[in-house]
Amino acid sequence: MLRAVRLAVFCDFDGTFSVQDVGSTLAQRHAGAERPEAWARYERGEITAWQYNMKVLDGLPLSRTEVERFLETIELDPGAKDLLVWCEQRGVPFRILSDGFDANLDRLQELMGVRFDYDANHLRYEADRWRLAPGFPSSTCGCGTGVCKRRRIEAVRAEHPEASLVHIGNGRVSDLCGALAADVAFAKDTLAIELAKRGEAFERFQTLHDVIPRLEALLAE
Ligand SMILES: [Mg+2]
Ligand SMILES: [Zn+2]
Repeated sequence: MLRAVRLAVFCDFDGTFSVQDVGSTLAQRHAGAERPEAWARYERGEITAWQYNMKVLDGLPLSRTEVERFLETIELDPGAKDLLVWCEQRGVPFRILSDGFDANLDRLQELMGVRFDYDANHLRYEADRWRLAPGFPSSTCGCGTGVCKRRRIEAVRAEHPEASLVHIGNGRVSDLCGALAADVAFAKDTLAIELAKRGEAFERFQTLHDVIPRLEALLAE
C-alpha cells in the first residue's frame, strides 16, 4: 500500500528551478523572424501555447553541440539544491513540471549534479534540427500547453486526496493552470501578476530559499 502523503511539491523548471529560461532564450537567439508574429497570434488566441512552440522551435536548426554549450551556462536558483535536499529529508515527493524539453532536462541534471523526477515535452534531433512532441497535453484544460500542469496535479490528487499539493512557478502561460489546481501556489514574475489580477491567493517568493521555511510550516500544520 502507498504511504500516506501529507505534502507534495511540484516545481516549474525554466525561470523557477533554473535562473534562465532555456527554451525562450534559445528561441530569441536562434528562431526565425516569424517569432513576433507567432507570439501576436498566441496573444490573440488564434493558436495555442503548444502551437506557438511548434512554430518557433520545431525544426530549429541547432545541433546538440550548440545546445550543450548553451546548457553549460544555465544556473540553478540559489535555493534549488536545498529544496531538493529538504524534500528528500522530509519524505516529501518532489516533481519538476516543465513545458520545456526532456533532452535538455536530462543533460542539465548531469551538468548540475542533481536528480529529480519530471514531466516535460519531448525533443529529439533529426540531422541537427529540433523535432518536438508534447509531453502531457490536456484537451479540456484550456491552457493549450504541451505539459498541462493542472492535469498532472489532479492525477496526484486522485491518488492522494489527503495531501496538500504545492505548485511553484513563474510563468503566466505554462504555470497558471497548475497554480490554480494546487492547494498552495508560490509565484513570481508574470504568474504572480496574473494570479493577483484574478484575485487568487498565492505566496510570493524571490528564490527557492524563501519557499523552504513556508513548506516546513505547511508540513507542521
Ligand atoms: Mg518558467
Ligand atoms: Zn492546463
